[in-house]
Amino acid sequence: MDLSREGIVEGLEQILGPENVVTDEELLKQRSIDNFRKLENIFGVYTLPPPAAVAMVRSTRQVADVLAFADAHGVNVVPRTGGTATEGGLETVVANSIVLDGSGMDQILSIDAYNMQATCQCGVPLQALEDRAREQGLTTGHSPQSKPVAHLGGLVATRSIGQFSTLYGGIEDMVVGLEAVFPGGEVARIKNVPRRAAGPDIRHVVIGNEGALCFITEVTVKLFPYLPENNVFLGWTLKNMKTGFEVLREVMVNGYKPSVARLYDPEDGALHFSGFAAADDCVLLFMAEGAAGIARATAEGIGEIVGRHPECAQVDSGLIETWFNDLTWGPDKITREDERIRTTRNVNRTTEVSADWSSINDIYEAALGRIRREIPDLTVLGGHSSHSYINGTNMYFNYFYDLVDCGPEEEVTKYYLPIISIICEETLRHGGSIVHHHGIGKARAPWVKDEYGSSYSMLEKLKHAFDPNGVMNKGTIIPQR
Ligand SMILES: Cc1cc2nc3c(=O)[nH]c(=O)nc-3n(C[C@H](O)[C@H](O)[C@H](O)COP(=O)(O)OP(=O)(O)OC[C@H]3O[C@@H](n4cnc5c(N)ncnc54)[C@H](O)[C@@H]3O)c2cc1C
Repeated sequence: MDLSREGIVEGLEQILGPENVVTDEELLKQRSIDNFRKLENIFGVYTLPPPAAVAMVRSTRQVADVLAFADAHGVNVVPRTGGTATEGGLETVVANSIVLDGSGMDQILSIDAYNMQATCQCGVPLQALEDRAREQGLTTGHSPQSKPVAHLGGLVATRSIGQFSTLYGGIEDMVVGLEAVFPGGEVARIKNVPRRAAGPDIRHVVIGNEGALCFITEVTVKLFPYLPENNVFLGWTLKNMKTGFEVLREVMVNGYKPSVARLYDPEDGALHFSGFAAADDCVLLFMAEGAAGIARATAEGIGEIVGRHPECAQVDSGLIETWFNDLTWGPDKITREDERIRTTRNVNRTTEVSADWSSINDIYEAALGRIRREIPDLTVLGGHSSHSYINGTNMYFNYFYDLVDCGPEEEVTKYYLPIISIICEETLRHGGSIVHHHGIGKARAPWVKDEYGSSYSMLEKLKHAFDPNGVMNKGTIIPQR
């Protein structure tokens, strides 16, 4: 880098105007991290170098100008929109980075009910798009728990997935076309067509790039009819996760497409279902939706499959609906959880992986067994499967621990990384993927070579081709040497 901190700020002010360049010290500290080091934010103890500035961009032209400036001077750029990242993707690991904040690009550009697609700038909160779509009887079908706070740019950049994924898919199934700006300032638009066979699908260079290849400025996603009046909720308790995985498998391989298909183990389930489930109960639940006939047939088919497993005891569907209506995390719930951690020093973390049907139960048992044996001070350890496919499913490990003899800034190294290590090792040993939907970020970058195996060279070549000077989000996806 050939510029001082002051030189970077001055350059940004020339491009964006001083009013769009944030240099407030406290805000810069907060912008040096995300939920990976959330305890640093909660306790106000920061360990990473703060960025030189947060650049608030309002247009594709401004994004291009900032990226050209950063590339010319070798300044690290960390793209950002909703700020809900969980894996360190927003961390500024080198001094004097630029945080490129697209949250001001918040225009919904079109809702095209005839072609069933909507186009938004990157800083549109998903909830805002969903609300506008519903005014026309439509839905995006995308419902991550962070829906009220995550933005379209970040949702695409992380390959996010929502609660209704078993029917609508992940974001990669929803993105029709997009616009992105590459280092140096080159703007690329990928047009909106239902499908094409014109060579490799270059959308996938952008989807999931986690800000390590380019900055996403605009996204077009599919829309679907919104028919909540047809929703059917179904739930059962049972004693074994293995049976639960088998029921999920049978539902999927028989071609049913519930929007929600979940299996909770007893410890994770107790956080939600203690009103009706016994302490040693697993909980299996589904939601069927869509056109009335489809929702009804899906619910009937699932009932028939679960009915072949006498271990499963049906629960009142109203209980499942009540649980379902409180699933998303808005700013209030996030603030309450931060306050709980600050006052109790009891920390909640999650890690999600995926694997085929043959391996998922082995991964679940092996990881839980090792975490219990090797990690002290756990107060809750469990998990659930929440996204199923014809060939496998995910496992979302959910764990709490008390901070004992440890400052908030040591939590990541003393507790969180050792737990992630076990989960990654056991998942890789059984042939699964170490990341189902939160992205690799910096938290899981140490395992990325093992995750990719012999295809890692393709990933490295992509990085070198699109970001030859290495200015995009250093340490994210590709570990820093
Ligand atoms: C309470 C809570 C619940 C969650 N639930 C879910 C869930 O159900 N499903 C799920 O998939 N995830 C979930 N997440 C994780 C998170 O919300 C997602 O990863 C989301 O996609 C991030 O979007 P964002 O706008 O907040 O992005 P940010 O946090 O701003 O950024 C995330 C990553 O994307 C990059 N990025 C951001 N904007 C751009 C851009 N315009 N161009 C290029 N790169 C960019 C950043 O550099 C970073 O690496 C949850 C997080 C929280 C805190």
